[in-house]
This record gives sequence, structure tokens and C-alpha cells, in this order.
Amino acid sequence: MFVFRKGGLIIITRDLEVWFITGSQELYGKEVLKKVEENSKKLVDALNDAISTPVKIAWKPVLKDADQIKKVIDEANSSKVCIGLIAWMHTFSPAKMWIAGLKSLEKPFLHFHTQFEQKIPWNTIDMDYMNTNQSAHGGREFGFISARLELKRKVIAGHWSDSKVISKLEDWIRAALGWNEAHTLKVARLGDNMRDVAVTEGNKVDAQIDFGYEVHGFAVGDYIEGYFKQVKRSEAEELVNRYLEEYPIKKSTVSEEVFQASIREAARIEIALRRFLEKGGFKAFTTTFQDLHGMRQLPGIAVQRLMRDGYGFGGEGDWKSAALVRIMKVMAEGIDIGTSFIEDYIYHFEPGNIKELGSHMLEVCESIADGTPSLEVHPLSIGGKEPPARLVFNAKEGPAVQACIVEFGDRFRMIVNELEVVKQHEDMPKLPVARALWVPKPDLATAATAWILAGGAHHSSMSYTVTAEQLEDLSDMFGIEIVVIDDKTDIAEFKKELRYNEVYYKLKKL
Ligand code: MN
Repeated sequence: MFVFRKGGLIIITRDLEVWFITGSQELYGKEVLKKVEENSKKLVDALNDAISTPVKIAWKPVLKDADQIKKVIDEANSSKVCIGLIAWMHTFSPAKMWIAGLKSLEKPFLHFHTQFEQKIPWNTIDMDYMNTNQSAHGGREFGFISARLELKRKVIAGHWSDSKVISKLEDWIRAALGWNEAHTLKVARLGDNMRDVAVTEGNKVDAQIDFGYEVHGFAVGDYIEGYFKQVKRSEAEELVNRYLEEYPIKKSTVSEEVFQASIREAARIEIALRRFLEKGGFKAFTTTFQDLHGMRQLPGIAVQRLMRDGYGFGGEGDWKSAALVRIMKVMAEGIDIGTSFIEDYIYHFEPGNIKELGSHMLEVCESIADGTPSLEVHPLSIGGKEPPARLVFNAKEGPAVQACIVEFGDRFRMIVNELEVVKQHEDMPKLPVARALWVPKPDLATAATAWILAGGAHHSSMSYTVTAEQLEDLSDMFGIEIVVIDDKTDIAEFKKELRYNEVYYKLKKL
């Protein structure tokens, strides 16, 4: 029997770790090194208590020479559970010892520039204390060699008990989850790109080199023969019943007969798609309305429910968006209040009340819905197929981001815009699709100008949970360009940033 599971179905981040390494040297003698070890263990315990990420920080023995450093980094590189390293210099740790290790580092890296004690003990401080607690200068020696080696890294400075420091640490861990997911991700494409569309194209070899994920193409006919036609009538009926339990019905613009036939067909598509994705180990996929060979409707509700369960999706063959949606869903694991594929659609240019309507013809994840979506069937004016079943809803209010990745031939660029999703006061009775209404930061005109200057796509991944800072950490881990459009965006400065980046990335390739 086919098993239906709701939520968290394919998130696989359990048992993952970031490794915590502490730099020191033999020079200080046993007593100081014992203290260093005690302190770093206490610090790791405190961090594990403070963070809310589904990842454990694993303490590793204090590093005192080049061989120990190289060994732990080699182990981290080959470990399946280690998704990144956090390094802290409790004392001075002469940085030539770190060269061999850092040169071979392949995992995300965080330089945690903190100090064990929060305050200077004014009355008791002496030279022993100075020797044991010299992060301020040990961290600088380490920073030099990291910069000299052009190490991809995040630096967080501040006391480890500070909530802002903890929050930055969590951002980085969530980005590392995304990085790790990208390196194990396989994206399936049913059919190719929508013909003539430019931005959804890109070099899949470059993507695999920069992001790690694989993209595999499949003929829709093979899916129909191998999966769709194998779905039993009873299985489809069982899923239809589940639809009817989970969603209120709005009968829409088709007859009862067409409605029933449509949701049965949709259920078969969903069951077959789940089996196809599970069999191939795919966590993200694309479809295109221009290649639906053997399908009587464009997959709507199937895609919406698969996204809800954690799958990434991109419409019209958009594999970059499919991968990004999946990666962002994993980054949001455990706290996600909504992450979906979305498309910029319509502007509302009413003076004083300017906003934008985001949507797609069907495939928007129900995780962003405000309340329970309704199940509806309506004709689709595109694709020349039968009326598809879809979930209709308005997106919930709240701060969010939209992000896309585009390719310029020589590099990928991520573009992020912070948004405020607002309440929908109008019904839009003739627009039976999922709808999100938002005001981009700093305002629609500036945001749209910046997005367009940067070459941002019409498709994006939208999330209420993943933040711009997390996406910046993620882009740094991948080593790709990122531009963020937020409260502070000023077009003149933004244009300069694009120009500087152009030079930087071109020179970097030389
Ligand atoms: Mn689209």
C-alpha cells in the first residue's frame, strides 16, 4: 500500500554535525592546555544548549601542531556527518601550522572569534591569565593566514553568550545545511525548458562544479509508462479521499463529472511522481507545460503537495529554482513557516499603496498558505490540456525573502530581495490560483530596478524562514556572487556593486 506522509517527509538532516576545533600550541605546557580543553568543552556545551538548529556541535581535541590540524581537517573532509568546521583560537596558535590543513579544507568554515571570559578580571589579571586567554591576538594570527590563503569563511566576533552571536552562528549552521544538501542533491527534469526562455537555462556542468548537485533529464513518456500507468485505481481513490478530507472543495467552473475526473487524474499524477522521485533519489524536480506527453493535465496539486513535503520544484524546466527551493527548505528545517517556488506577476501601482502580486499558474507550495487551501478545478488557458486540480489560497502575512540564481556564462549570481508579505483585502474571484501579495524592500520601484539591473529571474524561491544573511553565508560557501536588495538599497550604490563584482569575478577567473 502506498504510504502518505505529511510534512518533513524527505528532510534528512538528522545526525549531522559541525565540528568545533580549538587552536593552541605545545608552548604553554600541560596546565594551560588542560584549562583550554576544559573551557572549549564548556563553550561547546553552552552553544549546543543555545542553538535551535537540528545539528549538533561536536567537540574535537585541542590542536597543538600541524599534524593534528591536518588530520582533523582530512577527517572532516571525508566525514559524511560533518557539514562544516568552527575554529576558535583560545590562545595563540602560530598559523604556519594551519597552512597544510586549511589548504586541503573542503567543508564550510567559520572562524569563531570569541573569548572564554566575558569580562576582564581587573583585580586578579596577571601574565598567566594573559597567556591562557589571548583570543584577541590568536584570532588575528589565524585571520591573517585565512586571508592569505583566500579561505572561504565566515567570521563571527563577540562573546559566545551574546544572543546576536548565537543567532549569527545559527545562520551559518543553517547555511551549512543548505551547502551539504546541495552536495547530495539530485534534480529530475521531466521534459526540457520552456522553449525560447533564457533565464531558466544554464550550464549544468558548472552548476555541479559550483553547487554540487546533479541534474538529470527524463522523457515524460517513460514516466507515464513506468509510473503513471502503474498506479492502481484503488490507490488513486484512496488519495482522492484524502484530498477531500484535507481540503474544502470549491466547485469551480467545471461540471461535477469533470471535477471528479480531474482530481482522480491529479491523484494518479501525485502517486506516480512520488514513486518516480523516491526510486531515483530525487529531492527536486521540474515539469513543463510544453511537454506533457501522455498526461491529461499539468501537474498542479501534486506539485503543491510534494513541495509541502520538502521537495524542491521549478516550473517550465527551471532546475536552478527547483534546486534552490529544496536547499532553502532544508535550511529552514524544523522551524519552516513557509518556503515555495513563486513567480513575479502583477504590480499594483496605486499611489501610496504600491505592491506586487506573486503567483504561478498552479505550482505554489501550500506551506505559505494563510489557513487551509481550497481544492478547485478550472480550465487552464495555457498548455492545451484538460482542467487541472489545484490548491487555491492567499499567502500569509509576514517578512519574507525571495531569491533566485542566474547564470552569466562565467559565473552564477544569487539575487535576494527582502519582502513584507501583506494581507489580501480583495477576493480575486476569477483568479483561482495561489496568490502572495507583497511590498518589496526598500520600495517596489527601487527593488524592481535593482532586481532587473542584476538580471534577476521571474522565478524565485520565496521563504518566510530563510534570511538574507543565511543566503549570504550560503553563497560564500559556494563561492558565488550575491547581491541583496533590502532597506538600505540605493540604486547608484547598487550599480557600483554590480560593476565592482563584474571586475572581481572576471579577474578571479584569470
Ligand atoms: Mn513560470
